[in-house]
Amino acid sequence: MKNEVKSIDISGKKLLAMRDAQSALAAGASSVLICDNCVVTPSARDFLAQHDIALVTAGNAAAAQAAPKHSAPAQSSGAYGIGAGAAQTRSAANPKLFHTPEAEAIKKEICAVGRKLWMRQFVDGNGGNISYRIGPNEVICTPTLVSKFDLAPEDMSLVDLEGNQIAGTKPRTSEILLHLEIYKEVPEAKACVHCHPPHATAYAITGKVPPNLVIPEFEVFIGKVAISPYETPGTPEFAQTVLPYVKTHNTVLLANHGIICWADTVTHAEWYAEVLETYCWTLMLASQLGVPISHISEQKGADLLDIKKKLGLPDIRFDTSRMKECQLSDLEVPGSIALTPRPCDGNTGKGPEADIEALVKSVTDAVMGALEAK
Ligand SMILES: [Zn+2]
Repeated sequence: MKNEVKSIDISGKKLLAMRDAQSALAAGASSVLICDNCVVTPSARDFLAQHDIALVTAGNAAAAQAAPKHSAPAQSSGAYGIGAGAAQTRSAANPKLFHTPEAEAIKKEICAVGRKLWMRQFVDGNGGNISYRIGPNEVICTPTLVSKFDLAPEDMSLVDLEGNQIAGTKPRTSEILLHLEIYKEVPEAKACVHCHPPHATAYAITGKVPPNLVIPEFEVFIGKVAISPYETPGTPEFAQTVLPYVKTHNTVLLANHGIICWADTVTHAEWYAEVLETYCWTLMLASQLGVPISHISEQKGADLLDIKKKLGLPDIRFDTSRMKECQLSDLEVPGSIALTPRPCDGNTGKGPEADIEALVKSVTDAVMGALEAK
């Protein structure tokens, strides 16, 4: 242990990378002062922990200064040496949430969903990642560099909402920042699935979103898809590309990359990936038939939106003030999604199971009605 407390101040930077961690060690620092929203790379965090160098956020340092007695930098509280400073304005992340019966069930669900993603060829290599918000400042997520087919419950990581790993032996996915931006922006979001399904990704590399009012399930579960601009994966800039869309969409195409879906459960988030992928695939098949796609009428489409509203699912089309620029079916312009949050009265308050049963019946009725009308 070092006898003196020497702090390096990099609170002017938004990213603490390995280079900074090594500089702190070379300077003989006992702590590094970072800004409240600084992103610390996993390797830098590990390096600092290994060398007993604490991370202190600016807010935490101010509190320490106000303390009556000498306060040492935040002490490490987990295997990764995450100091109390990581808590910032949120409550300190609780590593115990990683071992509750709920957490163990979630880990198993994540593994099952990972295998589904791999079996459906939605992920390749170690691609894709899955997470679940188990507490106000605690998120269980998949590790980096593990195939989604091979996931085991003991592989999972626990991070706080800033991406600091607080439990788990394997380093968390480098894409967790993307998930965390969604959790911070959308209180209803409990689970995120990011993957690279080929047909949806084909849209993402053309900068096009699929048209609407073609298949009822797609309208109800997803509806208008947003497309976010390209940024380098794993960076804070990439994570923030989805922010303008996530309150009014549960699925976003990531330009030249893949997709991200959020939902109330991990399983439901994976369903949305399936619905989008199958939809994009079907559209591509239909485009080869040499005849135009027939659309569901706007009137019948409004019925589907009603079902969606009852389910509490977000859709930009609920905002009637924006209907002129965002008609039920006309959206094919990349990134042209409006930013207005969905109305907060969209929740039925009923359980998801009852909602889904009602949805299946309603969609079936709508399809049968449409067929009979022909
Ligand atoms: Zn990816």
